[in-house]
Amino acid sequence: MQKRYKKQYSSYDNTALVICPNCGEDAMVKNVGSYKQASLECPHCSLRKSGNELVVYKAHIKLYCPFCAHTIRYEQGKLKEKPKNITVQCDECDVSFQVQPKIEKYLDSYGKETGLTHDPVFGCPYYFQEDFKGKLFWAKNREHLLEMESYVSSGLRTLPYRMRMVERLPTFIKEAKNREAILKILQKWKNSYK
Ligand SMILES: [Zn+2]
Ligand SMILES: [Zn+2]
Repeated sequence: MQKRYKKQYSSYDNTALVICPNCGEDAMVKNVGSYKQASLECPHCSLRKSGNELVVYKAHIKLYCPFCAHTIRYEQGKLKEKPKNITVQCDECDVSFQVQPKIEKYLDSYGKETGLTHDPVFGCPYYFQEDFKGKLFWAKNREHLLEMESYVSSGLRTLPYRMRMVERLPTFIKEAKNREAILKILQKWKNSYK
């Protein structure tokens, strides 16, 4: 008898299981959809961070010196406060004056590694991910893992209704020829995280 795939988990969109930037163990990002509410917590090293703590500003200035027309450029990032006026000096005629910079707000996330999937707020790599025949296979969290397992192991792929998670899955996960290998990886991930 074939198992019909049933959607059983629904909370996976808002959390991400990631690698702790501090100790390398598993850590949890909650409310990953909004940096204002997001939090990163590691149960192993007690790292705690909120998305709001990551907010920093970058100040840019580009102008022509009003005295000698030489270009003056200034850029400073990772500022905790929005700077108001900044004193710049012309390299050419040494005149200095105050300018209001253009300000850009951004998140000072952890450095992302190329080729990996990260949470969008803190920039920590997902805990469950690995290369599968040249493609990156990943699960956002344990619920997502179980959801994929339930889907891949079910023989009945004709779904009575359309589901976002399944629609978003890359084809290689859905292909019958990869089924055994995908299930093996999911099982291994499950065992690595209790
Ligand atoms: Zn940690
Ligand atoms: Zn000048």
